[in-house]
Amino acid sequence: MIQPVSNRNFVSARVAAIPPSGIRKFFDVAATMPDIISLGVGEPDFVTPEHIREEAKASLDRGKTGYTSNRGLAELRILIASDLSTRFGATYHSEDEIIVTTGVSEAFDLAIRATVDIGDEVIIPEPSYVCYAPCVSLAGGVPVHVPTHDTDGFAISASAIEAAITPRTKVIVLGYPNNPTGGAVSRADLQAIVRLAVQHDLLLVSDEIYARLVYDGWTHTCVASLPGAWDRTILLNGFSKAYAMTGWRLGYACAPHHLVEAMMKVHQYGMLSAPTMAQYAGIEALRNGEPDVQAMLAEYARRRTLIVDGLNRIGLRCARPQGAFYVFPDITGTGLTSDQFATRLLHDEHVAAIPGSVFGPSGEGHVRMCYATSTAHLEEAIDRMARFLGRLPLAPVATGDGLGVEAASLPSPTTRTPTEKLGRVTK
Ligand code: PLP
Repeated sequence: MIQPVSNRNFVSARVAAIPPSGIRKFFDVAATMPDIISLGVGEPDFVTPEHIREEAKASLDRGKTGYTSNRGLAELRILIASDLSTRFGATYHSEDEIIVTTGVSEAFDLAIRATVDIGDEVIIPEPSYVCYAPCVSLAGGVPVHVPTHDTDGFAISASAIEAAITPRTKVIVLGYPNNPTGGAVSRADLQAIVRLAVQHDLLLVSDEIYARLVYDGWTHTCVASLPGAWDRTILLNGFSKAYAMTGWRLGYACAPHHLVEAMMKVHQYGMLSAPTMAQYAGIEALRNGEPDVQAMLAEYARRRTLIVDGLNRIGLRCARPQGAFYVFPDITGTGLTSDQFATRLLHDEHVAAIPGSVFGPSGEGHVRMCYATSTAHLEEAIDRMARFLGRLPLAPVATGDGLGVEAASLPSPTTRTPTEKLGRVTK
C-alpha cells in the first residue's frame, strides 16, 4: 500500500537555523555568463605543479588505492612536523600530535566538534572565513563575533577579544593571514592574545592556511610557537592554497596528544582517512614543491600590486594586504551596500566579487576580490569596474578625512573620471 506523503521535512533545527552561504548565489549567476571575470572564488588559478600530479598518478600505479591509517601516512606526518618546526618553530611529534585531514575544512570541524559543548561560546573576530560560525553552531556552540575595523586595517587586539569573554567562553578562533581582508597580525599582538588565553584558560584554534602566502618580507608567526601557546592551541594548515591543491582535499590539525585523540574520534567515524593519492601528492609537495610555492608567490605579489594600484586609480580605496590573495576595497563612496555593489557589478559588467557583509557585519562597505587570476583578467576587471563606477548615479561620497561630500557639489558625471567622481584617497 502506498504510504501517505510525509508532512515532516526532516531537516534538523540546527541545520535549518544556519543561513546558506552568501557566496553561492553569486556563483550560480556567474556560472551562466560566458564572459565572466571571476574575482570571487578563493583559489589559485594555477594547476597543481606537474611533479606533484605525477607522484599521485604513480601512487595509483603502485596500487596505493586503499585507506591509510586514520592519522594519515606516517611519512607525510614526519614531513609536516619537520616543515612546521624548521619554518615556523612549532614542534609536534609526528606519531601522535598530527592528524592528516580532508582539507582545513575538516580540520576546523574536528577542532570545534572535539572541544565545544552545547552552549560553549567561541570567539570569532570578523570579518572572517565563512565556515567558522556555522561549524560552531552545528556543534551546538555559540559563535561570538568580535568586530574589527577598516580604520585600523581590521587589526584584532587582545582588548577587543577580552571584552567578549564571558564565563561560557571556551575557544578563540584566529585566522591570519585573513580571509577576506588579507591582513596579518604582528607577533606582539598575537602574543598578547596568547597571554589572554592563558589568563582566562581558553583554547586557541588557529587557521594558518595562508601562512606561506605573505608579502613584502612579512614574517608569519605561528601561534603554536609563541610562549605559553602550545598546550592550548590547535594549529590548522593545509595544501590547498600554497601548493594550488584545492581539489585534492588535504590538510592537517596539530595539537597536544589528548586533543588529537579527541579529534581522532570524530575523524575516524566521520571521515576515516584523507584521500590516499592526495596524501602521496602531499609528500611530494613537501619534499620538492618549494620552488613552485616561491614561483606562485612571486606571481601573486605582482598581481597584488596590479590590483591594489588599479583599484586605487579608479577610485576604490584599497589597502595593500600583507597576506593571502585577497583585496578588500572600500566601496562606501559608491553609496551602494556591498551586496548591491557586487550584484550590480556582476549583472552590468560580468565581474564577480563577494560582498564584504558575507564575512560578517564589519565587512559591510567592502567587497572581497581574489587576485589569484591572470594579469589579463585583472586588467580587464579593472577596466570593467572603472566603466561601472563611471555609470553610477551620484551618491554622497566619503572623502579621505571621513567627511561626506554632497553629490551636488561634484562635477557632472559625464565629465568626471571614476576617480574624480568618488573623490577617494588611496592608502
Ligand atoms: N580556511 C580558510 C581561511 C580558507 O580561506 C579556506 C578556503 O578558502 C579554508 C580554510 C578551506 O581550506 P581547505 O581547502 O584546506 O579545506
